[in-house]
Amino acid sequence: MINLYSDTQTRPTEAMRAAMASAEVGDEQRREDPTVIALEERVAELLGQEAAVFLPSGTMCNAISVRLHIRPGGDEMLIGELAHPLIAEAGGPAAISGAILTVLESEPGRTGIFSAETLRAALGGSSPGGDRYSPRARLVSVEQTVNIGGGRVWPEAQVLAVLDAAAEHGLRTHLDGARLMNAVIASGVAASVYAEGFDTAWIDFTKGLGAPVGACLAGSADLISEAWRYKQMWGGAMRQAGVIAAAGLYALDHHVERLADDHANARRLAEGLAAIDGVTIDPGDVDTNIVMFGVPDAAAFCAALEADDVRMGAVGPRQIRAVTHLDVDADGIELALAAAARAI
Ligand SMILES: *Cc1c(COP(=O)(O)O)cnc(C)c1O
Repeated sequence: MINLYSDTQTRPTEAMRAAMASAEVGDEQRREDPTVIALEERVAELLGQEAAVFLPSGTMCNAISVRLHIRPGGDEMLIGELAHPLIAEAGGPAAISGAILTVLESEPGRTGIFSAETLRAALGGSSPGGDRYSPRARLVSVEQTVNIGGGRVWPEAQVLAVLDAAAEHGLRTHLDGARLMNAVIASGVAASVYAEGFDTAWIDFTKGLGAPVGACLAGSADLISEAWRYKQMWGGAMRQAGVIAAAGLYALDHHVERLADDHANARRLAEGLAAIDGVTIDPGDVDTNIVMFGVPDAAAFCAALEADDVRMGAVGPRQIRAVTHLDVDADGIELALAAAARAI
């Protein structure tokens, strides 16, 4: 099976499993697991933040962050139209934190990347204190790269412009960096440059980094100490979690630079798809490891691919998402292209 459904489908490599098997461990929720602590320190430094906390999932990083920033009583969270918390976290920001979500349109196209002007326009005349009528603008969230936007990379200048606009309005800021390291490898901009201006920022180990479990949320020492309350409250505090944190450390040592291979494979996939009659794609839209393209019938296309031992995901009636990762090599891409031509 050539599995391009998602970069979450990776299996831990033998070497990663060996690192997990030999990890030093302790009681994580009592802060006695040296491997978890090492991973948290590593991620805090990587993201240019004071402290970090290891969590079971990226979704919990987002959920805790929103809970940290949003206060009861009508606080507003501004977020890109394709962002994960909006479309794939079961309504968490509203259900858990009582946030009212204001959706920011992307420009250009449906990339999930919005401009500082769009943010300013959405804020209108609102002040941090708000008036009696408007929700109180409180939080803006940026997703780097944008998953459903096709893995597009926010340019550094655009991130900084959004942070400036947020500062003018006294907003808290959050970076969903599930695939931040893909943006780092694609752009050459350091993770800390993208992340240090945010109040909270996180990376996922289970996407392109290829670990089986875990994500790490970073921020100021005060915010991370408060994050621990919710980690405990929501059952995210663990025990000998060094076994899984070791996979995260291994991934940071061995699976970051190689993301360039995934990006090259995604480009090759996009170029090959562009040459197939009936496929709609602009290979220039592929910044990282996610390839979005149009076909006449997404469900039928995916079923035909499956019969050929190739898996991709339908993300709309006529839209397909294919994601490259460390379990698919260049030969796999050629086989997937041949299968795609047959499926069309
Ligand atoms: C996958 C993903 C998440 C959630 O991460 P999990 O580890 O799957 O819970 C959040 N945001 C984005 C952009 C993602 O791609």
